[in-house]
This record gives sequence, structure tokens and C-alpha cells, in this order.
Amino acid sequence: MARCGGQQDILNISSYENAEKMSRSCRLPLKSGRRDLSLTLQFHPNFSILHGMIEAPHESYAILIIDDEAANVDALAILLGHEDYRVFRATSGEEGLGILEKEKIDLVLLDILMPGLDGFETLSRIRVHKKTKDLPVIFLTGFMRDALSMEHGFNLGVNEYLLKPIDSNELIVRVKSILRMTVAEKKVMQLQSDFFSMLVHDLRGPLTAIRAFTQLMAEEKNLSEQDKSEMLATIEKASEQMLDLINDILDLSKLESEYVTLTKRPIDLLGLIDHALAQMKPLAIKKSITFSKKYVDDEVSVDADKAKIEQVLDNLLMNGMKFTGERGEIVVTVRNASQNDTILKTAGVDRPSVVVCVKDNGIGISPKEIPFIFDKYRQIVTSAVAAGKGTGLGLAICKNIIEAHGGKIWVESREHAGSSFYFSLPSE
Ligand code: ADP
Repeated sequence: MARCGGQQDILNISSYENAEKMSRSCRLPLKSGRRDLSLTLQFHPNFSILHGMIEAPHESYAILIIDDEAANVDALAILLGHEDYRVFRATSGEEGLGILEKEKIDLVLLDILMPGLDGFETLSRIRVHKKTKDLPVIFLTGFMRDALSMEHGFNLGVNEYLLKPIDSNELIVRVKSILRMTVAEKKVMQLQSDFFSMLVHDLRGPLTAIRAFTQLMAEEKNLSEQDKSEMLATIEKASEQMLDLINDILDLSKLESEYVTLTKRPIDLLGLIDHALAQMKPLAIKKSITFSKKYVDDEVSVDADKAKIEQVLDNLLMNGMKFTGERGEIVVTVRNASQNDTILKTAGVDRPSVVVCVKDNGIGISPKEIPFIFDKYRQIVTSAVAAGKGTGLGLAICKNIIEAHGGKIWVESREHAGSSFYFSLPSE
């Protein structure tokens, strides 16, 4: 406990939130699947004739058609409307830009030859606005189909060209594939942004504590020896936590790069597991957790990078201990499995492998978390990190290591009953 500047606030300085509060109280300056078209719809060059019946799936994306020929716009609108897209129409570039300002549009079909703003000029204006700079745009053209014009369009940032007369099947396929790609890209961007927000959050906590305590120690002359040593211990813990997180991120980005090099040689996997268990033993004794092992085969040899497999074992065992209460049990099982073995078949592994299982009887994992548990962007559990339990990147690192060996990692778990983490390494 520390008393701040002679005031009454007595705070437990072992938590970062309190470190921040404390420094504040001391006034420190802290701060289609669509049902296939039953027949190919062939538009005449001016799109005015539309043949055929359209059966459509559900899509709720908004598509803006910009073409100075109203008949073309209408024909496209009918086709896309049948596909359940929400369609907006414009017969000039200017009108189209006005709609883009007001509405949330997912894709633009843009004619090139138009009076006033032509397609190229309209596209360059679309690309300069923050709201629309990444919007997918497909050029529709009957004339500007020479290489130079096409290159000009691509330089301006058009995503696709469709040549008139438009084949309706092709149009729908292109629209769908572009929308699918955009959705996937947005999802990745969202995950990355979530990841960075969490990262910043997880680095800011310890950093806040370090800053608060160093300022406090520099300004407060009457701190007792006990206060000082508590503060130093918190500073040390906070720096370690930041270092762990940074090291994990570096590890992960190295593993994900093409330059990851494994030093593979035959390793004695059972010996490696014995060693990992022996190293964890003191911690296990402290938490009254018992370790046991079941080695089904006397000898298990795989070609692997010893240091990296050690890292996987350490992480799985450490997690087993972190998420298992006092008097818990951790069992490590190892066995050779043929490719017809149910365990490998269920996991989708189609080659003879050694299978290692680290089983605990801890808190387990909820079914909705399981699909994302190895996912580097999703699985960071900030509460666990905040509680000083880890960086939340360990399993993503394990997955990368095991997959780099041609193996697979998976989990079976029941909430409040425990988890079994498995990994396989090819044995032939
Ligand atoms: P960390 O353990 O550093 O948070 P990991 O990537 O190793 O990061 O684990 C991610 C999350 O998966 C953990 O925070 C925890 O919520 C869950 N988890 C991992 N192993 C277990 C386990 N054996 N039992 C229950 N939950 C687990």
C-alpha cells in the first residue's frame, strides 16, 4: 500500500488502474448464391432488349449504375433487381457523384462515354473522396476497349472492365466476386484494426503504471522503503509484461513471414516432453497441480525444430496451468497414429503422424470461442492479459509453428470441464 503525498487516498499499487488513479490523486500529469439464370441473357449493345426469366438469391448490397443511356440503366437495374441488389440509377457522372455522397453504395457500374463528366473523370473524382476511395467500380464500355484506354482506367483505379454487349451471366459473376472480395478485405481490415486497438490497450496499461510510479518516486520525497520496493516490483512486472507482448508479436510476424526457417532434425519427442514437464514442475507444485504422462509407444521420433516444438509444449503446459484451478490435473499423452486412425481422420490429417495431447481439467473454453482460439487477431483475451495472465498470442504462435512442420493443432473443450489441446507432427 502507498499513501500519496500525505493525502487520504490509500491505493493498492499492484493494479494499473490504481496506479493511474493514484497518480491523478497526486496531480501527476498522466494522460448469387443466386439460383442460376435459367438462360443466358444477352443484351443488345444498348441494353434495351432483355430476354429470359431470372431467378435470384438474396443479396442486399447497393449498386449504383451510371450510364447516360436511360434504357441501359433500366435494363441493368432490372437484372440486378432480380438478383435482390438494391439499385440506384444515374444518367450522368454528376448525378452519380451526388448519389454517392448521400447513399451508402457498395459497387458502381460506370459507363465511360458520357457527355459532361465521362467515366474516367467520374472515376477520378470517386477515388479522391475519403468515403468512396476504395469503392469497387466496374467500367462498362463498348468503344474504349483498346489497351491504352484500359491501362488508363486501371491507373485510375477501376476494378474491372465489362465489354458491351454485356453478357448478363458474366456481369452477375463479376459483381458477386468483387463484392465477395471487398467484404473479405473489409473483414481483414476490421480484424487488424481490432488487433491494433487491443495491442495499444494492452501496452498502455503497463506503460501507464511505469510512468506513474517513476514520476511519483521522483517527486515524492517521503516514500517509505516498503512503498518504494512495491513500486519497483510493479514497474518490473509491467516492463516484463510489455516485453513478453512485444516478443510474441515479433515471433508471430517472423513465423508468418516467408523467411521462417526451421532447423529440422530427428528429435526425441518423449525426452523433450519429459524436459518440459520437469521445468514446469516447481510452478505446478506451487499451484498444487499434478502432472502425469501416458506414452503409448516407447519411442517416438520425428523430424522437427527442437526449440520451436519446445515453445509449443511450454505454451500448452503453461496455459493448462493458468486455466486450471488448485489441485488440477494435466495429462500429456503421446502416440503414433496411422493415417486411418480415427483421431487423425476426425482432425482431417491424412498422413501418419505423432499425436500429442495436453489435457487439463480446468475452466474449459466456450463453444463460441473455440473456432477463434488459434486466430491471431481474435483470440487476444484482454481480460486475461490485463490480469497478467499472458499476451494472448501464444496459441497463434503454436499454430504457425505446427503448420510450418506440416502438422495440425486443434482443441476439444467443454466449459467448466477442461480442455484437450492436440497437435500432430508427420512421422514419415
Ligand atoms: P494467453 O494464454 O497468453 O492469453 P494464448 O494464445 O496461449 O494466450 O491463449 C489464448 C486464450 O485461449 C487464453 O487467453 C484463454 O482464454 C484460452 N485458453 C488457452 N488455453 C486454455 C486452456 N487450457 N483452458 C482454457 N482456456 C484456454
